[in-house]
Amino acid sequence: MKEVTGYELRVTGYGLRGVFSAQRHRGHREPQRTTEKTNLSRILLLLIFPLFIWSCSSSNIQENLISVSIVPEKYFVEQIAGDDFEVNIIIPPGASHSNYDPSPSNMAAMGRSVAYLRMGSIGFEQSLIDKIAELNPNLKIYDLSEGVHLVASPEVLEDVQCQENNHHHHHGSYDQHIWMSARKAKIIAKNICNAVSGLKPERSSFYQDNLTAFLQKMDTLDAVTQRKLADLSVHAFVIFHPALTYYAEDYGLEQIPLEVDGKEPSVAWMQKVVAEIQNKNVRLIFTQGEYSQAAAVAVSETTGVELQAINPLSEAWETEFERITDIISEKMK
Ligand SMILES: [Zn+2]
Repeated sequence: MKEVTGYELRVTGYGLRGVFSAQRHRGHREPQRTTEKTNLSRILLLLIFPLFIWSCSSSNIQENLISVSIVPEKYFVEQIAGDDFEVNIIIPPGASHSNYDPSPSNMAAMGRSVAYLRMGSIGFEQSLIDKIAELNPNLKIYDLSEGVHLVASPEVLEDVQCQENNHHHHHGSYDQHIWMSARKAKIIAKNICNAVSGLKPERSSFYQDNLTAFLQKMDTLDAVTQRKLADLSVHAFVIFHPALTYYAEDYGLEQIPLEVDGKEPSVAWMQKVVAEIQNKNVRLIFTQGEYSQAAAVAVSETTGVELQAINPLSEAWETEFERITDIISEKMK
């Protein structure tokens, strides 16, 4: 294996481009890219908010329109509600859930919605939720992460370890990637069932039946996944953005994120990851299309560990979940 130092120059050069800012959201720590443009568009959005909200008075509300934040929520809603509702997805396919700024048109669609099913506290949900509620007083807002036991973000655990001696602990920064867990998906589905039953009480027995079927499907998926991952010889994998926190937790795996604090890794951190790869015999580096590949490519070239692209934001949630399991079970046996 080569030394990571060979990549120092390149990686440092990359870091110097200043694409990422040190500024971050409270809570879910995510990358904030191109801050000037992002902040500007966010300010513009807030300025024009009242204009389009004005045109979306309660008379324009479509009783069958639900807004959600990310693509997989559409899958979950359809599992419970069939095609009873049209689903408006705020963060389009291919965009990062961490730093996407809603466009005026998708916020206008939010204003026409009868309800908004927030995933939890990802990206804009945290920065804009108060504004959304304030500007859409009739919008029913449901939190699909309600009742889910959240764990601290990986990088926070690191902080806690480092600062254990002076009893400095971080609170309020929890990992939000609950949708990539068959077990957490059951809680998400229950929350959706409650929401849609409230919206269309006359359809609640249909939703209840769908929920029962979905819970069984998740139990089966969980059991099959457990069986496929039962006799792995390797138990750790590297991933750029830590979207598999709860998946890893469910199946006793260790997720090693390359991204730190929602930012591109430093050379020092990449060297640490390379050492982990060697110590733990890691055979997989997962990448996600909506994030930069540079760090993952550098670590892959240094260690010879292969890259595998995955999409935790796929609309074909179940297919992607099974594909990730199959990759892990094949490569980590
Ligand atoms: Zn994320």
